[in-house]
Amino acid sequence: GYDLVFSPHVARLDLWRISGHTDFYRQAMFSPIDVEGQEYQLKPMNCPFHILIYKSRMRSYRDLPIRYAELGTVYRYEPSGTLHGLLRVRGFTQDDAHLFLRPDQLDEEIFTLLDFTLFVLRSFGFERYDIYLSTRPEKYAGTLENWDLAESALRKALERKGLPFEVDPGEGVFYGPKIDIKIKDMLGRSWQCSTIQVDFNNPERFDATYVADDGAPRRAIMIHRALMGSLERFFGVLVEHHAGAFPVWLAPVQADVVPVTEKQNAFAQEVVAALRAAGFRAEGDYRNEKLGYKIRESQVNKVPYALVVGEREAEAHIVSPRRRGGEQLP
Ligand SMILES: [Zn+2]
Repeated sequence: GYDLVFSPHVARLDLWRISGHTDFYRQAMFSPIDVEGQEYQLKPMNCPFHILIYKSRMRSYRDLPIRYAELGTVYRYEPSGTLHGLLRVRGFTQDDAHLFLRPDQLDEEIFTLLDFTLFVLRSFGFERYDIYLSTRPEKYAGTLENWDLAESALRKALERKGLPFEVDPGEGVFYGPKIDIKIKDMLGRSWQCSTIQVDFNNPERFDATYVADDGAPRRAIMIHRALMGSLERFFGVLVEHHAGAFPVWLAPVQADVVPVTEKQNAFAQEVVAALRAAGFRAEGDYRNEKLGYKIRESQVNKVPYALVVGEREAEAHIVSPRRRGGEQLP
């Protein structure tokens, strides 16, 4: 399992010097904030905080893997011309996690992660992906032995899941190889969402170690992973993918209760209360409007069900359901 953690939104700029962000990532960061003569930085990433939590005490080889997850809001400077709806924003929340493990745990851990990623994507209705495995570039951190281990773990996990993928030779980040999953929406457009990245560099920069079974300190291997990536972008893509007509479990309003006339309002309110008590997201439309108008509006709002309540229904304590497509149900 994961430990759910929360990390601050600002930190002293020094932290980002250790992580290398001030050198490699400066143009995507907001300007530092002066706090009592010290420079503080809005966080562009969550990783360094999770490393500090890992380092807050001594770790034994028996403690690993350690997994920290956070719904972490990060801030990145994007030129105003590139901002685009929910798809590109300057502050977004990642379903971010960092795992710390021993080399012998790579295979199993990466397979489990990939399995989890696909479970999440499929649950939201995404069935088509472009998958890329990016391998060692010319300049790299870490040992050749660990790179080979990590690349083969990523490859094996993809093959074991029977997923077609493309290899991007040399396109790994300097700190480790990665799997990127781009999801395809209804219109066939791809969107970068899930990522699983192995990192040999940050454990070195932060000196993140564990005590091995021979009592000697060893460098931990770190994995960065985000399943949905940016929640904002993921929901943007999700809205596009379903064209607003979400499956029932996901719809913000699952049922509109629509009385035919105001005389049925009292019973309609009872129905709404009963549905809500049963855990459904239901709304009542008690306006003095024509039935057809109210049903059309419910359909335009893509609410999965409209439950019509007329005189007959109110007397019999029933509703007359129809689907958002207009189909009348028994
Ligand atoms: Zn990270």
